[in-house]
Amino acid sequence: MKQRAPLVVANWKLNGGTDLMCASVASFVKKRFKAAIGIAPPYVYISDMVSFLRNSNIMVGSQNVSKFASGAFTGETSAQMLKEVGCGFCLIGHSERRQVFLENDASCHTKIERALAAGLMPILCVGENSQQHELGLTHDILYRQLHQALDGVSLQGQRLCIAYEPVWAIGTGKAASAAQVQEVHEYIRQELGAILGAGVAGQVDILYGGSVKKDNAAELLAMPNVDGLLVGGASLDPDHFAEICAIAN
Ligand code: PEP
Repeated sequence: MKQRAPLVVANWKLNGGTDLMCASVASFVKKRFKAAIGIAPPYVYISDMVSFLRNSNIMVGSQNVSKFASGAFTGETSAQMLKEVGCGFCLIGHSERRQVFLENDASCHTKIERALAAGLMPILCVGENSQQHELGLTHDILYRQLHQALDGVSLQGQRLCIAYEPVWAIGTGKAASAAQVQEVHEYIRQELGAILGAGVAGQVDILYGGSVKKDNAAELLAMPNVDGLLVGGASLDPDHFAEICAIAN
């Protein structure tokens, strides 16, 4: 029996603009979902989204956060700033950040500490690439990503999410099967137990991301260790995303 309503998070990546923001707000503002919903637009839209969604139960978050608190770091945005403008969560270590911007497990660790200190819920993204998947290295990769990002982190009652996003499933239309996801989420839960203690590990939401659509959402969410979904491409269509949120109800 799952303890909480599922969490469904939209990751717009470097997409959208004022039009998508207005269409999403219009689509969501009057709806009430039992599922918890989060939207991570590009940074510049966060403040407006927070004020447009003020009377809804939708959380706004960021797609990244700086590992620095302040100073001469051109182009960076701190956890404290994100909190100040109304973010509830931030994605950390998305595979695109790791691949394109060369982020590593050590920077994920620092970002998690920064997010928690600012009162943001970190959503740590982990997952193997297709070569690692084919070589049967999924658990080894996840072990490294989870331990290096989380060893020594103390949650002290704060919320943490993990998003399992196999790189080979992101934006490819080839989602992992529900059985694969369940098996990997069980492994993640086991390692979280080793890192954070079994009681705390049970409180962590483990989301799946990678080519989630309205057609596969129900099957994925039916898995006992799937606590929610992280949705990229399908979240750029507000009606499609709303349908996924309704399925998660
Ligand atoms: C993502 O990149 O976080 C993601 C889940 O993308 P998509 O749904 O498009 O595969």
